[in-house]
Amino acid sequence: MKGHGPPYNEQVNVDLHCHSTISDGTLTPETLAQRAQANGVELWALTDHDELGGVARAQEAALDLGMHFLTGVEISASYGANTLHIVGLGVDPTHPDLCAGMTSIRTGRERRARLMSESLAQAGITGAFEGALKYAGNPNLISRTHFARHLVKTGVCRDPNEVFRRYLTPGKPGFVPHQWATLADAVTWIRRAGGMAILAHPGRYPLTANQEYALLSEFKTLGGLGIEVITGSHSPAEFIQYAQVARETGLAASCGSDFHAPGESRIDLGDLPAMPDDLPKVWDLLADRIHHPRLAG
Ligand code: AMP
Ligand code: MN
Ligand code: MN
Ligand code: MN
Repeated sequence: MKGHGPPYNEQVNVDLHCHSTISDGTLTPETLAQRAQANGVELWALTDHDELGGVARAQEAALDLGMHFLTGVEISASYGANTLHIVGLGVDPTHPDLCAGMTSIRTGRERRARLMSESLAQAGITGAFEGALKYAGNPNLISRTHFARHLVKTGVCRDPNEVFRRYLTPGKPGFVPHQWATLADAVTWIRRAGGMAILAHPGRYPLTANQEYALLSEFKTLGGLGIEVITGSHSPAEFIQYAQVARETGLAASCGSDFHAPGESRIDLGDLPAMPDDLPKVWDLLADRIHHPRLAG
C-alpha cells in the first residue's frame, strides 16, 4: 500500500477502531499513532466515543509516521433498552451537524455519572464519581470505563471485566439507563458529514436472532453500509458468524482492535486476524476518503 492508492490487497494491516485519552483510552492520539505504526498498522483510524477532538492530532501523527489514515468516531445510540455503537469512518470532523450531535450526547454524561455514583453508594461504594473523574479528566467524557478503572484501582474488583459483570450493567448496582442518540440520528449525522456508518461489534448486543435481523434491516434502510466482523470485542466464533452476516446482508466488512489501554484490551493495535478474502471491505468503499502519508524528502 505504501505510497499508492487503491486497490489494496488483502495483506494490508488495517485497524479502524480504537480509543485515545479524548474518550476512554489511556494513550494520547500521538502515542496511539506511534503504537499502531510500531505494530505494523498501514491504514489506521481513531474512533473516540462521541468525540472528534483527537482526529486532527491522530491524522497529523499518522501521516508523519507513514500510515494511511481515515477519520473516525464511535457514536453511542439507544435502541430500545440497548445501547448500540455506530462507527463513522471518513467523516468530516468539522461538520456542524455531526459536531452538534456529539456535543448533545456528551452533555448527558456527567449527570449520568453522578447518578451511577449514587447507585454505587447505595451498594456501599462511596466516592465513585470523584474517583472515576480522576481517570476521565473531563466530566463530559466520563464513561463506565473510567468507573471500572477506579473500582479496580481501589480493590473493589480484580479487573474491568469483573466490574462490568458485578456493576454498571443492566440490573446491577451502578447501572443507570441513559438516552443516547437515536439510531437514525447517529447514521444521519455520519452520512451528512460524508462518512460511512458501520455497526460496531454486533456480537456484543444481547439481541435475539430476530431482533438482530430487525436491527440490520433498519440500519440498512437508514443508510448504514458496514458491519464490524473482526474486532477485539468478538470471539473467534463470532468472527465467522459475522462474516456470514456480512455476506447475507451485503454490508461491507470492517475490522478494528477496539484498543483502549495497554494490558486492558483483548487485541492490541494492528494485531487482528485477517479478514476473509471474499468480503467487500469498508476501506475499498472509502478509498477516496483515505489520507495518504506525505512523501519523504
Ligand atoms: P459508556 O459509554 O460510559 O456506557 O461506556 C462504555 C464503554 O465501557 C465501552 O466503550 C467499553 O470501553 C467499556 N465496556 C463495556 N462493557 C465492557 C466489558 N464487559 N469489559 C470491559 N469494558 C467494557
Ligand atoms: Mn470504550
Ligand atoms: Mn464500542
Ligand atoms: Mn470502541
